[in-house]
Amino acid sequence: MRLAPTRLTSDERELQSEVSAFLDDRLAPGSYPLGLGMAGGVDKSFSRDLAARGWVGMALPTQYGGGGRTAVERQIVVEELLSRGAPVGYHWVADRQSGLSILANGTEEQRRELLPGICRGELSFAIGMSEPDAGSDLAAVRTKAIRRGDGWIVNGTKIWTSNAATATHILGLFRTSEERHGGLTQFIVPRDTPGMTVSPIPFIDGTQDFCEVSFTDVVLPDSARLGDVGAGWGQNTGELALERGGVDRWMSLMPIVDHFARRPDPTTGALADLGRITARLWALRGLSLSIARLVDAGHSPVVEAALVKDMGTLFEQEALGLLRRHLDANPLPTSPDPWEALLAQAIVVSPSWTLRGGTTEILRSVIAKGLRHRDQH
Ligand SMILES: Cc1cc2nc3c(=O)[nH]c(=O)nc-3n(C[C@H](O)[C@H](O)[C@H](O)COP(=O)(O)OP(=O)(O)OC[C@H]3O[C@@H](n4cnc5c(N)ncnc54)[C@H](O)[C@@H]3O)c2cc1C
Repeated sequence: MRLAPTRLTSDERELQSEVSAFLDDRLAPGSYPLGLGMAGGVDKSFSRDLAARGWVGMALPTQYGGGGRTAVERQIVVEELLSRGAPVGYHWVADRQSGLSILANGTEEQRRELLPGICRGELSFAIGMSEPDAGSDLAAVRTKAIRRGDGWIVNGTKIWTSNAATATHILGLFRTSEERHGGLTQFIVPRDTPGMTVSPIPFIDGTQDFCEVSFTDVVLPDSARLGDVGAGWGQNTGELALERGGVDRWMSLMPIVDHFARRPDPTTGALADLGRITARLWALRGLSLSIARLVDAGHSPVVEAALVKDMGTLFEQEALGLLRRHLDANPLPTSPDPWEALLAQAIVVSPSWTLRGGTTEILRSVIAKGLRHRDQH
């Protein structure tokens, strides 16, 4: 493992204060629906306001409208957002990974066409990887893109595509040949493409962010292809360090923890559990920060990110159990108290935290294989 201890510099702490002051003003308590981490509300105007401050796409180069800032600086912004349960849903995926993937794998034309819109908070991306029979075993993807003339014809179905109904683009992983890994290619599909149907799937908490996306004879120009034909698996793997190692894997409960910490007259048991939660949060924060430093140093810490996701999501589930010990009654999703309603939502959706972005079993397999590989080299 390459996780070295690190601290914020004084410039980074200054950014933290700046973001915090902006959000105190922009997100007055009660003025927005509290969200659970990355599953926060979809609010295009909030994403645009944040972008106007330079805090969306901030790790992208300035020549494409980005901030030319570091992964650590982005993490600082994200921490402030998630600690408030901010409505990050519209720009989340584009800011965390799609923009950086387009920068790394796209053509100059794609970069110029898409990155400025991402940085303005106007474009929103969804991840079109999973299929009914291809979740953990992602290489089993069957949605086909077949060459036709200068372009491609796509047929198949994606599932569990978060926020596909509100996204402007879906970054899809399609099969372009029968070769298991080498036969996968990524495509950027605009949401209004004829033949693509997005159907929301009701989730257990009553939200409809989850979608099924079907493709029926969808015609795509070759310019929709991201990267080389057959390079999709490798590109996808490159996104995983960004997708798994960040603070979003352990911050879903932050508004609830913060509220709990402010309760008057805590019992000794409540203080002890708060101490347990805080110590773990601090340790996880150090790990995510080290990962961001590795990204800034040009590494792709996929194994370290899998470790943080595994530890972070299990912690979130455990922390929920600790908080529940101090309730007098089961929280109600219909409660007028926003924290109680959020806690009720967390209880029903928390099993999904160890599934989305790779299940616990798959992450441990990535970690074990990655460490063995490093031992051998
Ligand atoms: C809230 C949420 C949001 C999501 N958003 C998106 C999205 O935006 N885009 C997208 O593409 N996908 C998304 N997904 C899908 C997610 O990536 C998959 O659910 C996940 O990869 C697991 O796939 P699966 O559901 O098909 O389960 P399966 O792969 O069928 O796994 C079922 C169980 O078997 C275990 N298992 C499977 N294979 C192995 C193995 N080789 N060794 C040991 N155990 C194994 C798994 O760990 C799991 O416990 C989302 C899922 C959730 C819950």
